[in-house]
Amino acid sequence: MFEIGIQLRKERGAENVFDFSLGNPEVEPPEAVIQALRRVVTENRPHSHGYMPNAGFPEVRAAIAAALAGRTGIPFTAGDVVMTNGAAGAINVVLKSILDPGDEVILLNPYFPEYRFYVENHSGRVVIAETDDRFQLDVDSVARAITPRTKALILNSPNNPTGAVYSAEALRELNSVVREPVLVISDEPYRPLIYDGRAAPEISQLISRVVVTWSWSKAMAISGERIGYLAIPPRLPEAAALGNACTFANRILGYINAPAIWQLVVAQVPEATVDVSRYQEKRDLLCDGLNRMGYEAPRPQGSFYVFPRTPIADDVAFIRILQNEGILAVPGSGFGRGGYMRLSLTIAREALERSLPGFESALRKAR
Ligand code: PLP
Repeated sequence: MFEIGIQLRKERGAENVFDFSLGNPEVEPPEAVIQALRRVVTENRPHSHGYMPNAGFPEVRAAIAAALAGRTGIPFTAGDVVMTNGAAGAINVVLKSILDPGDEVILLNPYFPEYRFYVENHSGRVVIAETDDRFQLDVDSVARAITPRTKALILNSPNNPTGAVYSAEALRELNSVVREPVLVISDEPYRPLIYDGRAAPEISQLISRVVVTWSWSKAMAISGERIGYLAIPPRLPEAAALGNACTFANRILGYINAPAIWQLVVAQVPEATVDVSRYQEKRDLLCDGLNRMGYEAPRPQGSFYVFPRTPIADDVAFIRILQNEGILAVPGSGFGRGGYMRLSLTIAREALERSLPGFESALRKAR
């Protein structure tokens, strides 16, 4: 998509290309984050650029644990938190720690495609469980996918690519089918990106056998800074062993430790979040526009993606029709669900408005 985008921009001019393909925040980080960064740089404390304990600066881990405990009511302490290179680093570290060759990891279809690579990086095998027709958790499908080789299930709510937010009720039901040794890896980089004034259920409260993976990439619009963590609730019987394994894996996978300066920054403002109303406005503009034309484009409840049905079953063919209109989107089959497309709301509002006639024309051509 990236390469096609470069080519299309050359051919049509940048202003005539509407890139809905990337999940790269278009907004700037919140001012509180930039101020914290300035303070850290000005303070220039000794050894702030050096190696550190593999799990991160102890005081940063303590600050993050305190923020997590405050939000969830779970008594997290510094020892339960490992600072990582984004959510991607966190998930790889957990999988490296728990998988033996041939162990199975359940993914809920449609899913973030990198999960498959992460699982296979550590000799695991992906097993797919389906979601329902609104992309909500289908616990029966998960229960059917569990085998004696299952070690983990990766959960992602708010979801990339569908924008679904799983209900507390469905999560409680999921909790009832997850038994030792299965771990739920709750991948939460979109957690605060929730619309319509709702709050997402706190997954670490609802699932007993959970490890949380997080990054500030989306919440703070700092995806290039590679800063995140994994958090292991102390109630997990294997918490201490898993914490040690993850700390070791953080080093042997070559991450060594999470970026030092950004650890110091996020510890000062752990809950700072971009203005979610900007994404919500774009969500409404896009979904209303598409639905008016005749697309089927349900409003996402969270994250910054819209996942409409493509007007023809062949989503890859429809993506090509859109490209002829200068619109870049990702086919649903890239996420395991053909017949859909993912549109990222990280596009500028003005470009989104100008793209709408192209969607209308593509719809006419497809029919
Ligand atoms: N998990 C999901 C669902 C994502 O969408 C992404 C990135 O787009 C990641 C993990 C990786 O996050 P990070 O870039 O912070 O490592």
